[in-house]
Amino acid sequence: MTSQNLSGGERLPQERRVVTEIPGPRSRELQERRAAAVAPGVGSVLPVYVTDAGGGVVVDADGNSLIDFGSGIAVTSVGNANPRVAARVKEQADRFTHTCFMVAPYESYVAVCENLNRITPGDHEKRSILVNSGAEAVENAVKIARYATGRQAVVVFDHGYHGRTLLTMTLTAKNMPYKQGFGPYAPEVYRMPLAYPFRWPTGPENCGPEAAAQAIDQITKQIGASNVAAVVVEPIQGEGGFIEPAPGFLPAIAEFCRANGILFVADEVQTGFARTGDMFACEHEGIVPDLVTTAKGIAGGLPLAGVTGRADIMDKVHGGGLGGTYGGNPLACEAALAVLEEIEEGKLTERARRIGEIMLPRLRALAEKHEAIGDVRGRGAMIAIELVRPGTKDPDPELTAEIARRCHAAGVLVLTAGTYGNVLRFLPPLVIPEHLLIEGLEVIEEAFAG
Ligand SMILES: *Cc1c(COP(=O)(O)O)cnc(C)c1O
Repeated sequence: MTSQNLSGGERLPQERRVVTEIPGPRSRELQERRAAAVAPGVGSVLPVYVTDAGGGVVVDADGNSLIDFGSGIAVTSVGNANPRVAARVKEQADRFTHTCFMVAPYESYVAVCENLNRITPGDHEKRSILVNSGAEAVENAVKIARYATGRQAVVVFDHGYHGRTLLTMTLTAKNMPYKQGFGPYAPEVYRMPLAYPFRWPTGPENCGPEAAAQAIDQITKQIGASNVAAVVVEPIQGEGGFIEPAPGFLPAIAEFCRANGILFVADEVQTGFARTGDMFACEHEGIVPDLVTTAKGIAGGLPLAGVTGRADIMDKVHGGGLGGTYGGNPLACEAALAVLEEIEEGKLTERARRIGEIMLPRLRALAEKHEAIGDVRGRGAMIAIELVRPGTKDPDPELTAEIARRCHAAGVLVLTAGTYGNVLRFLPPLVIPEHLLIEGLEVIEEAFAG
């Protein structure tokens, strides 16, 4: 895996380098300034102030070089400041930075939509719209689904995460910190059980069919299938803890949707764009969603998101019913076109698989040694471990935070997740050099050793 050409990493030494405590003095100074200026409701996983990033590293204001196992939450999959992305954005910035697509359009928006229509699952005719964030994409998918079906109810699942706007926080399962005190929530949202193999009462083998049957029974009995506009589901739950729904669950739900005129909306905001080893995670079980929401990995960090769907659904909404001032901004569209070239030319789906092939066996071996690791899971470069109190399945969020803290102190940027806050999740850039991936894993192993 020689990634230097693609990653932008040639500009920065691809090394872990810890030269101060983390965060160091310069970052701590900035953190004080921040406390006086920035509302504390916006948190940071690790308050090191970044001055540079590329390939598999993030460099901070004190000169520390951290191994990046986060990619800005699955965003900089092609590497931070990827040279092709940076060049396209610079060139566009010199020509025009904004017209508003709803005022006077430009080609790159169309080209991004053509690409989304081409690469999302299914070879039926599709249309796309572009917006600014994952939450905005999910909001629009629900608007479109309601319009197209003339129905109101929206079904979501336990452990789901769909954003922080009023509707999308309603769709999100976890109260603290996403919903606490921010109600009342949007109406007509119904939550169903999810096939969570590690925590399914009758065991992982029965999980897929049993969870699907429960969800379908509840939808039928509690809402009535004919009232449901859409089922919105992440093919792998992201913030909820990288839960891979047990095999058979998603196909059964998709089939139920098809039989009942319900639109199946795949929220691929975190799982999309090669992250899981497929271009989209739905492909793993051959699911063809009616609508797909995308964001995060789409544009190398520039704010962009999309809704892509069946042409007959997307074409229904009246002119002017969808849009927004900045949606499909020309800088972001150029970035997205560059990202897609990098993913396809660089065969990043294969790289994602390779990352999983390296990480999963090592983490499974680590789990053999440490009873605190209850589960190792994920696909491609979307990998997680779930921490429990030894001999039980009781979540251990304290140990999770402590392991993350040790990794950070040693110069590896890892993230936590999970309904119970007990999941360490790993989202390395797909272009991370292999030696950094392995060194990052060694640091995680040392963190467990104490
Ligand atoms: C991050 C995320 C969102 C929200 O995206 P934002 O760009 O933060 O609004 C929605 N759905 C999923 C699955 C996500 O991971």
